[in-house]
Amino acid sequence: MTKADVQNDMLQKDEKYVWHSMKPYKPENTMIAKSAKGSWITDVQGNRFLDAMSGLWCVNIGYGREELAAAAYEQMKELSYMPMTESHEPAVNLAEKINEMLGGDYVVFFSNSGSEANEMAFKMVRQYHQQKGDHYRSKFISRYRAYHGNSTSSLSATGQAQRKYKYEPLGSGFLHVAPPDEYRNHHSEADRWGAEDIDKVMTWEYNETIAGVIMEPIITGGGVIVPPENYMKEVKSICEKHGALMIVDEVICGFGRTGQPFGFMNYGVQPDIVTMAKGITSAYLPLSATAVKREVYEAFCGEATYDFFRHINTFGGSPASCAVALKNIEIMEKEQLFQRSRQLGDDIKNELHTRLQGHKYVGNVRGKGMLIGIEMVSDRNTKEPLAVEKVNAVIKHCKEKGIIIGKNGMTVAGYNNILTLAPPLSIEEEDVTFLINTLVEAVHTL
Ligand code: PMP
Repeated sequence: MTKADVQNDMLQKDEKYVWHSMKPYKPENTMIAKSAKGSWITDVQGNRFLDAMSGLWCVNIGYGREELAAAAYEQMKELSYMPMTESHEPAVNLAEKINEMLGGDYVVFFSNSGSEANEMAFKMVRQYHQQKGDHYRSKFISRYRAYHGNSTSSLSATGQAQRKYKYEPLGSGFLHVAPPDEYRNHHSEADRWGAEDIDKVMTWEYNETIAGVIMEPIITGGGVIVPPENYMKEVKSICEKHGALMIVDEVICGFGRTGQPFGFMNYGVQPDIVTMAKGITSAYLPLSATAVKREVYEAFCGEATYDFFRHINTFGGSPASCAVALKNIEIMEKEQLFQRSRQLGDDIKNELHTRLQGHKYVGNVRGKGMLIGIEMVSDRNTKEPLAVEKVNAVIKHCKEKGIIIGKNGMTVAGYNNILTLAPPLSIEEEDVTFLINTLVEAVHTL
């Protein structure tokens, strides 16, 4: 069989048997991947693509690291499984390491995906308030345009209409406010950027019914919305004023994506709960975690029969996943990838800004670390989002030149006008040059 035959055979079977997420199936768009190394993916035909999205914003240390494969292999030989009703060394060591990285006093519960980590956070927060005698605190506030997962509560917290449409009604008790979008500024009090909406909603809903707020430090999937410096601090003090807990979703922002170990560290707050997944293992194996401040955890240590957290999952904290996460973090630290993300990410953003700012369709270039968004508009004065066909033309141009980039947007309005970049933190400098040149060239074809 030639490589082309293999590709055709796979595409035919794929079309017949595999149900893909997100997009309608289109054979010409589907890559049948064969292997990957560093920042590059090779398909079954031998075509190579620079992955400037790190998969789904998750392959933080790049592909094909033999140390991670070895860590999984050694751990599987030693101890392949142990439920977290008991314990094991990789889980203990990883929880200790996460606690050290978070810079506070946290207790860690392991699960398998970002959605599950958030789902657990909601259960923990509701149970926490119950056990503190605060029986009416059940509601959560999140922001429009944010994504928090695919399961019932995490999708309820999600503020993107196109992910929820036809699956509603979802869970009750999830409220939304506008995000702190400095480019579009949905707010009247510009100095607080929407934090005041959270304050008002808590009052109007009656603050004794609000359990918590969930937010990413930077909204990622909704179009890389970087908040003003003081926004998270404002929200934290509003939470404290009204007795609500702050959950920070670090599923994408965590593990160096924004140039810090965790995204909240850019903004001088210490959350009550931190959820994390993706970069925790650089997606070599599934793993997620919900880290909870010790004082919250202590509410679960009472003697009453149902005081403990009665959540159980089969695979969460699997020994091999924890061993891989530990090796992944060791590599990040050894190669100083958090600093690299901060410096190189800023260089990429600045260069794109310089080379694209004059273009009639480029409204705004923004980001932090290796997380960059380019908001495309048809008119720089009205900020009318650029038609998706034009945005797609940029993506297609990059793909034809061998680069994968992403797009997100203001989904409430049905627009998908923000190009996204989230390359591996370890991306080679020559690949950065190739990426920037190709993207600038693609925009200039419009
Ligand atoms: N939170 C955020 C911010 C995410 O981006 C995602 C996934 N893209 C999730 C939660 C859900 O993670 P998972 O797909 O692992 O369930």
